[in-house]
Amino acid sequence: MSGRHFLQIPGPTNVPDRILRAIDSATIDHRGADFSRLGLEVLDGLRAVFKTRHPVVIYPASGTGAWEAALVNCLSPGDTVLMCETGHFAATWYNLARRYDLETIYLPGDWRHGADPLAIELQLVGDKAHKIKAVCIVHNETSTGVASRIAEIRAAMNRAGHPALLIVDTISSLASIDYRHDEWGVDVTVAGSQKGLMLPPGLSFNAVSDKALSAAKTATLPNSYWNWEAMLAANKNGLFPYTPATNLLYGLREAIAMLLDEGLDAVFARHARLAEATRRAVRGWGLDIVCLEPSEYSNSLTAVMMPDGHDADAYREVVLANFNMSLGNGLGKLAGKVFRIGHLGDFNELMLAGTLSGVEMGLELANIPHQKRGVQAALDYLAGSAGEDNDVAAA
Ligand SMILES: *Cc1c(COP(=O)(O)O)cnc(C)c1O
Repeated sequence: MSGRHFLQIPGPTNVPDRILRAIDSATIDHRGADFSRLGLEVLDGLRAVFKTRHPVVIYPASGTGAWEAALVNCLSPGDTVLMCETGHFAATWYNLARRYDLETIYLPGDWRHGADPLAIELQLVGDKAHKIKAVCIVHNETSTGVASRIAEIRAAMNRAGHPALLIVDTISSLASIDYRHDEWGVDVTVAGSQKGLMLPPGLSFNAVSDKALSAAKTATLPNSYWNWEAMLAANKNGLFPYTPATNLLYGLREAIAMLLDEGLDAVFARHARLAEATRRAVRGWGLDIVCLEPSEYSNSLTAVMMPDGHDADAYREVVLANFNMSLGNGLGKLAGKVFRIGHLGDFNELMLAGTLSGVEMGLELANIPHQKRGVQAALDYLAGSAGEDNDVAAA
């Protein structure tokens, strides 16, 4: 098909040409002086993106590796971790933890709300013996388009006066939704390259607090590849204890420059605007958004419920075959029931207009009951002609 493919899944996202060109350079000696400068530059630049003064570890791995790294560095056999069932990614992380010698508490959820700060507080207050060593939260649940309120969860942990570490998965929120590692008292932030950071898959990250570093000194879960100590020692000189993904680091240097040039606040505002336009489109079609709590709407993707009796995957096939656009599938128990529109990363108004047009035409071609008002509602909002009281939800 001629023209560009529209990759509107919520990660991997569209990689900007500027980053692709940066990656397309000769691979250099990863123990030499040029590499050392590159390493120091990206390790330092990342701190601004995570909003931390503390070290950020870079792994040549997908996000799942950084999940595992966070657990095996900080915890010991028999430790209890508290997790919240927000959706498929929380469930996958929970299953990963269960494969280690860890006790798990899994607070149930309906996949339409974020992690509940009050439920977390009650668990911690009830844990007088401090058996719970870590609270693990998925910030932006990519299977549902629900963003948990991390600052409120931190406040709940503080109210409980409980010493557990706070470990947060920001794989689909970093560099698209406001996030503050230091200010929110997060101990380990887990992230990946292929979503808000606009890179291809293959890098992942742990931002690490002082408290997490001291927990790591006495933690005894076995680990080697993921070990922070060896990594941080080599990172002091911009180097790595094993071969880093050199060309992806060229891309990372470019991605950090692009994000800081635009300004993180402007990046977050752009994502918020495009997300709001998308939600107006969904309401205009008369379809339901999976997320039920407006203060938890995700600004990096929107998950949309298919009307009963219609298969979301058959619908996505129609969109791909006719308009060369990939939409995200339903995951876990939402398989076939939900499609997801990714609106994060290197993205703007006209890319969104094209995306929403493809969704609307697909609804027509696949005979999904809907109203043809979604694209117009989004365009009105983006053009600034839809005031607060002109919200299609109220119409
Ligand atoms: C994509 C994603 C993951 C999985 O990351 P991989 O890079 O596929 O290992 C985990 N958590 C969230 C929230 C994600 O969006």
